[in-house]
Amino acid sequence: MARIKGPTTGLDVIVVGGGHAGCEAAAAAARIGARTLLLTHRLETIGEMSCNPAIGGLAKGQLVREVDALDGLMGRAIDSAGIQFRILNRSKGPAVRGPRAQADRKLYKAAMQAVLAEHENLSIHAAGVDDILINRDGGVCGVRLADGEDLKGGAVVLTTGTFLRGVLHTGEHQSPGGRVGDAPAIALAATLERLGFRRGRLKTGTPPRIDGRTVDWAGLDVQAGDDPPQPFSFLTTAITTAQIQCYITATTPDTHAVIRANLHRAPLYSGQISSVGPRYCPSIEDKVVRFAERQRHQIFLEPEGLDDPTVYPNGISTSLPRDVQAAFVRSIPGLERAAIVRPGYAIEYDTVDARELTPTLETLRVPGLFLAGQINGTTGYEEAAGQGLVAGVNAAQKAAGGAPFLIDRSEGYIGVMIDDLVTLGVTEPYRMFTSRAEYRLSLRADNADRRLTPKAVAGGFAGEARRRAFTAKLAEIDRCEALMRRLAAAPADLMRHGVAVAGDGKRQSAWTLLRYPGVNASALQRIWPEFASVPASVAEHLQSEAVYEGYLQRQEADIRAFNRDESLQLLHALDYGAIPGLSSEIRSKLREVRPATLGAASRIPGVTPAALTVLLRYVRRRDREEPEPRAALP
Ligand code: FAD
Repeated sequence: MARIKGPTTGLDVIVVGGGHAGCEAAAAAARIGARTLLLTHRLETIGEMSCNPAIGGLAKGQLVREVDALDGLMGRAIDSAGIQFRILNRSKGPAVRGPRAQADRKLYKAAMQAVLAEHENLSIHAAGVDDILINRDGGVCGVRLADGEDLKGGAVVLTTGTFLRGVLHTGEHQSPGGRVGDAPAIALAATLERLGFRRGRLKTGTPPRIDGRTVDWAGLDVQAGDDPPQPFSFLTTAITTAQIQCYITATTPDTHAVIRANLHRAPLYSGQISSVGPRYCPSIEDKVVRFAERQRHQIFLEPEGLDDPTVYPNGISTSLPRDVQAAFVRSIPGLERAAIVRPGYAIEYDTVDARELTPTLETLRVPGLFLAGQINGTTGYEEAAGQGLVAGVNAAQKAAGGAPFLIDRSEGYIGVMIDDLVTLGVTEPYRMFTSRAEYRLSLRADNADRRLTPKAVAGGFAGEARRRAFTAKLAEIDRCEALMRRLAAAPADLMRHGVAVAGDGKRQSAWTLLRYPGVNASALQRIWPEFASVPASVAEHLQSEAVYEGYLQRQEADIRAFNRDESLQLLHALDYGAIPGLSSEIRSKLREVRPATLGAASRIPGVTPAALTVLLRYVRRRDREEPEPRAALP
């Protein structure tokens, strides 16, 4: 067995898979003190970006900041590997802005591998896992490797991505694979089937890669990054990696004609692929069919690295045959002479129904077995990372007999995602959107550390550097907020500096002015030179707080009401059949999901307010009659 480091005995946690979920799970378990082993097929693919070389985006950027706030790795890795940083939706409110960065693929992997290697308590070995070892009580006790060796561990986290029974499709050609260049995980998929897990089958796809040296860049629109680039991690002070430009082109009516003429050869339309793909990220053939009236679809040409000529054409994911890909690519402005270095393809893979999980991401069926990432029906590196971190912490806690670590819907997008998954399951690949969050005014990228770092500190998985930086930042926020509330000027002075305010004679504080459109930190610095002492990240955060001050106070009341429902826990073993007044349909929904709280029950489609009232009365009466045991989470 190839290895980077560390023993394979005396383990608390075994993590299977070195993708985005696996890296965070292994690192989080090790940070909390668990003796952890990361097992993955190939060491050189640890931290691999299977599809687009980019991290973050709308809502996904919030997830990355949350992972970082919990002392995870993704934010720091992209800060050292990012070659173009942009805040998306900059012109909109702070709550829906999303940090995004284009990555140098090789640098990203290298950064992830380097930071993992630094973790104490973490062994990293290359091996395929074929089976899960179960003890006499039905709980997990280790894994069996493809070469037959058994490794024992107190908890196991599976983060197998798109690998379970993966099949790749390019036109009529099909081949087994976890992604291009990697074998699928067949035996492990059979293990999950044998253990009785409810499974699904989903699909995703990737575009052909283009040789940038064959692109005619002249005449294409340039998409520049932000200057200065804004880091993801709360620990990064500045981005020092060289920055590049991206370019924009679009499909043409000719492109659409080529695609239409070949739809019968598209696996999506020929019946070769029957599983469901991401609706919001359709393949180009799907876009041409679904949006038949559109004459063009935008394409971002994104370099895959500083010393790599490969270009990722974002917007034309496809599984059409190679010759059709070559033909339609050459109908796109700038790509008339383009050489394809790797054709696009679609992949179908098995997932596990996430309703088999508790909010700690532990399976109900096999205690001690945790699942995170694409295996749970999500898509995206950021969604995988968020789940990986939660599963890793909880696996370590499980092995040590510690308390579960949970994030609720009012605390983070990670909490929204996990609650959606374990309560509702998925019918298509799940990706995060800001619209999924009820409390998005408070779930912003700029305040992820204030929301979550205290939880990481309390849980014992925030490192010393994180703790110190956070404490210092809180003090800085207090100082700067006091300064902003103190600094004030008369309307005449403000107007002299170009700030349009009502001429009512009332002095306005810097804090109030931040709510005005167009007023930002540099405008305030022109009025009050002392403002120069406010760090950019603190200014951004305080501006959001100032803009939303009134709304946030109102949202607090909603969050308190939410927490009342969420704190009413439902025992896993609750006998829904014994609760009078519930219809058999609602009983069967509740039995299937086994919601952890009354709040989670309320989010199951079809569970009516009347049923919730019945449930509430029953649980309250039960608690009065037999107040113990109270803990609901297994
Ligand atoms: P992965 O990153 O897939 O990592 C899984 C890891 O598990 C790998 O290291 C693998 O070697 C290891 N592994 C698997 N089985 C075993 C085993 N039995 N033993 C040992 N190791 C094992 N996401 C988007 O957001 N948008 C897209 O458009 C998009 N398109 C995609 C297109 C393709 C073709 C592919 C393959 C993926 C695409 N993705 C897309 C998904 C994105 O890559 C995943 O969401 C993300 O990588 C999931 O992270 P993960 O950690 O769950 O799994």
